[in-house]
Amino acid sequence: MKLILLGKPLSGKGTQAEMLSKKLRVPVFSLGEILRREFEKKTALGRKAEKYMERGALVPETIILPLVKKHLPRKSFILDGFPRDLAQARYLETLTPLDIVIDVHCSNALIRKRTLARRSCTRCGKIYGLDVKEEKKGFCSCGGHLERRKDDTVATVTKRLETYEKQTAPLITFYKKKKLYRKVSGERKIAFVQKEILGILKSERIK
Ligand code: AMP
Repeated sequence: MKLILLGKPLSGKGTQAEMLSKKLRVPVFSLGEILRREFEKKTALGRKAEKYMERGALVPETIILPLVKKHLPRKSFILDGFPRDLAQARYLETLTPLDIVIDVHCSNALIRKRTLARRSCTRCGKIYGLDVKEEKKGFCSCGGHLERRKDDTVATVTKRLETYEKQTAPLITFYKKKKLYRKVSGERKIAFVQKEILGILKSERIK
């Protein structure tokens, strides 16, 4: 399977990608995760990328394209947060063909609400938010601490939404023309969105 999950920040595509990955045993490729790990390891690359991430801007190609080339799984993948503009989509085309692009759609108003609620586990990465509440405040079920992502502030998310509109939204037309584009509503319960995505994959016979 070669699937792109497209969508605004906090549309829920990361959660859907992880669930699909476990269910279908297909690796997720998330550039955002790779960049955050580089920053945590305090590499030069991580520090450079952080300046853009903090502002809600896209990290330049000179940083991300070598990462894509190095880490993109070859046989099968779920892409979360890549490509994010037309240049990246064209670059991806030079690496591999795709099966399908599923847009997890969500309104800006709900995204702002989710921004304030999202926390993730520093140990296992599990994400908590409006739909997934922690049992013990501030802690994950695995015992790890829950933290807010540095770029989950209303100001940064507003900027990330602007970046999405300007740079990522043109991918909708790009993939529609290639007849790869499908859309689901990301505003419903997580399990329901998952069911809908699985239904599309089944009806398109994508394995
Ligand atoms: P995400 O975890 O996908 O929400 O990404 C967090 C941040 O990482 C984004 O706001 C960008 O600054 C950066 N980033 C992630 N993916 C990309 C990409 N494909 N191109 C450029 N920057 C990216």
